[in-house]
Amino acid sequence: MPTTPPPRIAVVGAGPGGLACARILARHGITATVYDRDAGPDARDQGGSLDLHADNGQLALREAGLLEDFFRLARPEGQEMRQLDPSGAVLFHHEPEPDERFKPEIDRRVLRDLLLGSLPPGTVRWGHTLRAVTGPPDGPRRLHFADGTTAEHDLVIGADGAWSTVRRALCDATPRYTGISFLEAWFHDVTTRHPDVAELVGQGSTAAADGERGLFAQRNGGDHIRVYVIQRVPADWITAAGLDPCDTDRIRTLLLDRFRDWSPRMRRLIGDNDGLYVDRPIHALPAGHTWQHSPSATLLGDAAHLMPPLGVGVNLALLDACELGRPRAPARPLRCACRPPHGGGPPPVSRSPSGGRERPPERAVRPPRLRPWLRVRVRLRPRPLKPFNSLPDAHPGRPPDSPPPPPPPHTVRTPLRPTPAPSQALTHPTRPFHRALLIDPTRPRLYGGHAHRM
Ligand SMILES: Cc1cc2nc3c(=O)[nH]c(=O)nc-3n(C[C@H](O)[C@H](O)[C@H](O)COP(=O)(O)OP(=O)(O)OC[C@H]3O[C@@H](n4cnc5c(N)ncnc54)[C@H](O)[C@@H]3O)c2cc1C
Repeated sequence: MPTTPPPRIAVVGAGPGGLACARILARHGITATVYDRDAGPDARDQGGSLDLHADNGQLALREAGLLEDFFRLARPEGQEMRQLDPSGAVLFHHEPEPDERFKPEIDRRVLRDLLLGSLPPGTVRWGHTLRAVTGPPDGPRRLHFADGTTAEHDLVIGADGAWSTVRRALCDATPRYTGISFLEAWFHDVTTRHPDVAELVGQGSTAAADGERGLFAQRNGGDHIRVYVIQRVPADWITAAGLDPCDTDRIRTLLLDRFRDWSPRMRRLIGDNDGLYVDRPIHALPAGHTWQHSPSATLLGDAAHLMPPLGVGVNLALLDACELGRPRAPARPLRCACRPPHGGGPPPVSRSPSGGRERPPERAVRPPRLRPWLRVRVRLRPRPLKPFNSLPDAHPGRPPDSPPPPPPPHTVRTPLRPTPAPSQALTHPTRPFHRALLIDPTRPRLYGGHAHRM
């Protein structure tokens, strides 16, 4: 009997979302080729530390069979969270229980190595910068790389981040500047060289904000601390001030002046850093962004729903990978599988028996709505955390991390629910910081602009 050839699947982007997607597909017997523009796994610094949440990122790692490895490599003590005021007084302090597993920290490099090491050798093709995707919506699609080579695939999964090239083949959406810039500063060998900063930050993270500007400091592995100086400024604020991004001393003087009302101890987080500052203007895709359904291309992670850093971006990229890669329902042929949440185009709106409008059956791909946080801004303590072992299993009845049941043949589906659940976000300890920074009734659109209207 003739057999259907396996689909040729490309994942563009070897970030956390793309690698997790390839891993979960492989675990279900589906081979994918991952392309990334980096020359190799160590071509660039992967950035700081991440907390993977029990209700999204960890679910994906469990589906990938990597959850126990994650717990072995993660830093549970990194769940400590402090919120300070500009004088340095403690407003809120969460000290994790020794066995708390809600959102342990892991360095990005360690997470990437874990995912990379789990893939069959040769899965990732480094040094492949995608320039364009051509081909009809029904496929196949042709990938055009910067070195002039091409590759044909039946399904292209765009996991290529904020400025996704795959997204351009599906829609015209482009990220917009949110009006907020992060300036990254690093402190090395903090135990011996920066003991005061180390004490201020503790084993996890520390945040402070005054409604107009803020600081977010986070302990990383290897005795490093990373600080984000958060300001409401034009995207080109450094050059507009007549400075060069490498002019560390003059940027420091400018920052210390802008934070002159803050206590000398807090200003150490701005001024005592080692090395250069790294400018990170924050962009987001428009709220309500979606794309026309194509059976031969889809998006996940930042490519699908770039949002300001609210501590969930990697978690949602992993959750997308999980929802895309795992079989859950009766098999659907590949051509039907990568449908956006409501099949592309405007979401259908049904009528209730009384004639009123009801919600569309599936929500569009969009960044998180911030409004629900308003309702809880007076809550000072986080709710009790959901015990990890009460989380739903993708395959009920089998022990965690056991191999999944055999896959239906050649079934791949698009992330159906890449939108985070803001109500979950309220239950964990970092939220007081976000409430302080974001939820200022006199400035209801700090992360506003077009993308995140509250
Ligand atoms: C300042 C800051 C702090 C953040 N902090 C956190 C945090 O604490 N927790 C959290 O969960 N999230 C955080 N985020 C968000 C998080 O970084 C992203 O949401 C996450 O990295 C998205 O993962 P991804 O796999 O979709 O894309 P990415 O991690 O961006 O990976 C994309 C990959 O695609 C590759 N690529 C890009 N273009 C091409 C191309 N044309 N051809 C081939 N390859 C290409 C890149 O090399 C990269 O490897 C933060 C973001 C910012 C800006």
